[in-house]
Amino acid sequence: MYKVFQYSFYPVAIFGLLGILFTLVPRVPDVYLLWVPVVILAPAILMIAILERFVPYRKDWNESRNDFGTDLIRTLVLLPFANKLCEFLLPFALYVPLSWIAQKMPGGLIESHFNIYWSFLFTLLFCEFCFYWLHKITHEWPSLWRLHEIHHAAERVYWANSGRFHFFDAVLGSIAYLLPLIVLGTSVKLAMIILVFAGVTGFLEHVNINFKAGYLNYIFNSAELHRWHHSEKEKESNNNFGRVLIIWDIAFGTFFWPNEREVKIAGVEGTKDPKGFLTQFLFPFRKK
Ligand SMILES: [Zn+2]
Repeated sequence: MYKVFQYSFYPVAIFGLLGILFTLVPRVPDVYLLWVPVVILAPAILMIAILERFVPYRKDWNESRNDFGTDLIRTLVLLPFANKLCEFLLPFALYVPLSWIAQKMPGGLIESHFNIYWSFLFTLLFCEFCFYWLHKITHEWPSLWRLHEIHHAAERVYWANSGRFHFFDAVLGSIAYLLPLIVLGTSVKLAMIILVFAGVTGFLEHVNINFKAGYLNYIFNSAELHRWHHSEKEKESNNNFGRVLIIWDIAFGTFFWPNEREVKIAGVEGTKDPKGFLTQFLFPFRKK
């Protein structure tokens, strides 16, 4: 029974979510669209949090290290706030080029040529391409790494640290994902499907649930792969940069999946996890 759960959890979660999104979102009137993330994310988080208790990947990662409160507020309040801020401000900043694109390509660059499924695939690939490079650069440029280090300094990998980002790092991540959607002239419904899918897979990347994604690990960046991105060892963590997909990591040679062994210690070697909001906010600006 345990094995059945282990191997079925991830495909059921991914394809079940896609099924729900493609059935629900096209039918929801535009005025209610903003409720879609709430209706899907709230039960998903609840289910994930319960499963972490019953089928943990690592029992010790379920124990709080005085980080739960901060992680929770960052994940449920600050990260969504950074996303909303970017959703609101980016179209204003891009008003001129956007209006030019809209004149040239009414109906969106992709959606005017393909059905919703192909449009989803091509748009997601483009968003992931932009996110991959931003994420890789945040690991390579020292000033950006100091912001991103907050996410990696966590001593455990579990659902509530999926939104544990420095505010400015969260803004950069949002821009990397929203900018392609805006530039492509993506419709609000397709954008909603992509953003909610990215939101739930963001949790599935970090969950402390002992599942096996099998061959899906060559398409999606599951927790099995993303835990390596949280390894204390830099050689191991400088891999698996995708957010939803792992395809660009495979294409650019940063795919890492030593299936035969397990992640030993999560965190950043030589760095203590800064606890508390203010400490975390000021952490990147400290004197080294
Ligand atoms: Zn990272």
